[in-house]
Amino acid sequence: MIACAGDEQGRDRRRGGRGGLERAWYDGGTLPAKPVVLSFDDGYRPQFTYTQPELKRHGWPGVLNLKAEGSDLYESNVKAMIDAGWELAAHTIHHLDLTTLDAEQLKEEVAGSREILRREYGVRAWGVRWLSALREFPRPPVAPLLRGR
Ligand SMILES: [Zn+2]
Repeated sequence: MIACAGDEQGRDRRRGGRGGLERAWYDGGTLPAKPVVLSFDDGYRPQFTYTQPELKRHGWPGVLNLKAEGSDLYESNVKAMIDAGWELAAHTIHHLDLTTLDAEQLKEEVAGSREILRREYGVRAWGVRWLSALREFPRPPVAPLLRGR
């Protein structure tokens, strides 16, 4: 499990800092010998009411792949999860299959979702989790949309 400093890490992330997974992925940060990442998609209420408290009890953060519109979570739920060390990743705005979109729609769903999450939660969603159907190639050309954000 990637180390979690709880509230301190959450506050640092609100100032634009990266979480443990993000530091490892983007900045060459270190990982435990056998890292495990627990990620949760979409933003369902039980992720806040059951999962987050149980993971916190063990000192573990999670990654919340949050769709920018239409999740079941209140803004205060997401902020509490971030404050508990969770990392936020974009999961599109409308939960669309990115392989079906043209370039402009793709930009809106990826870059637009990251901007919405930054504005609403005050943290940068460094990662993007696209829909499980997209495990099959071709991958949508999202890499250029992640640069400089
Ligand atoms: Zn999803």
